[in-house]
Amino acid sequence: MTEYRCGAALIDPQAIVHNLRQLRRLLDPPGPQAAPRIWAVAKADAYGHALEHALAGLGEADGLGVLTLDDALHSRRLGWNGPILAMGAGSDLSALEDPALHSLHLIVDQPDQLAELSRLQPLQAPYVWLRHCGELHHAGLQADEYRKAYHALHAEVQAGRLAGLGHLQHYAGAENPEQLRKERLAFHELISAMPGPVCTENSAAVLSDHVSARATDWVRCGIALYGISPLHGRTGRSLGLRPAMTFQAPIYATQKLCGGQGVGYNGIFRAKRDMRIGLVRCGYADGYPRGVQGRCVVGIHGRMAAIVGRVSMDTLTIDLSGHPEAVPGDVVTLWGPGGPDIESVAGWAGTISAHLCVGLTARVPRILRGQTPCGV
Ligand SMILES: *Cc1c(COP(=O)(O)O)cnc(C)c1O
Repeated sequence: MTEYRCGAALIDPQAIVHNLRQLRRLLDPPGPQAAPRIWAVAKADAYGHALEHALAGLGEADGLGVLTLDDALHSRRLGWNGPILAMGAGSDLSALEDPALHSLHLIVDQPDQLAELSRLQPLQAPYVWLRHCGELHHAGLQADEYRKAYHALHAEVQAGRLAGLGHLQHYAGAENPEQLRKERLAFHELISAMPGPVCTENSAAVLSDHVSARATDWVRCGIALYGISPLHGRTGRSLGLRPAMTFQAPIYATQKLCGGQGVGYNGIFRAKRDMRIGLVRCGYADGYPRGVQGRCVVGIHGRMAAIVGRVSMDTLTIDLSGHPEAVPGDVVTLWGPGGPDIESVAGWAGTISAHLCVGLTARVPRILRGQTPCGV
């Protein structure tokens, strides 16, 4: 039995390998045309899974999507040698001159990047993806700016100063089929007179309409790679994906409650009869969502136990009535295989799964499955 004194997130790179292959199967067209290539999006330290562990499962990805040029350099130091897509590089692009940043693809989403690009002398010309703001309006150029930038960048490609130029957009509502159709259409109208490869599809778009996704050149998938569903009302498992993270923590003590006694702050839970409570070494200081408020369960010895009372900073309390065998030192699964799906916990907490996995705090070690956990 694995033993912990603190919470830990076990990361399974084989699950990531499986999920990547699953996405490839969906994207593989029946005819002779080429399948889109896959950017494995690994921003926010691989959605909280730890980039170094995620990379162990991403060997078959065509490229790695990160946020900043610093993240790009960090992934090179961790051994990633393939193409890198810097999705939010900002306007200081001087790191492009670092020889480690070969095979770099850059999202251009603000006009001042153009001047910076023509000033720099990288050893290897970067590939540029022009980003339209779309409905999301987070980053990206408006239609008229976009056309102008396209023609300026196109001239740079012809002068050999850029390796290539493509079209990119990020959807505001890919999990809603009607909205997705509208956003796709609007983008295709915008770029119809401007030749170039297209990169628009995220996990939700690929999973909800893989046939349209096949018609693009590169996709950018993050959440699905980690085995998590981006679609409402679905779990990763129901989509043929395998969760890459198992979040666990030990029971550090048990308590007996007599009927009528409460447990936890503010007495939001009172025992109806005598019962045994397990105190689990996990709380909102680990990133466990405080909002679940007693609707949530954890896994223990292959069955579920209800969380009762408030989630506190370092402790959550579970009902061990149906688990007479459970003793301090036993490990419970907060989400992942052996416990509830992360999508269910997110639903109980009123948030999304990505928020939970990136929200695990620094005191939760990310451990490769099979390695020695902390505190043993
Ligand atoms: C995060 C992100 C993605 C990946 O999205 P998922 O929904 O996790 O697949 C793709 N493109 C951009 C620009 C992103 O910021």
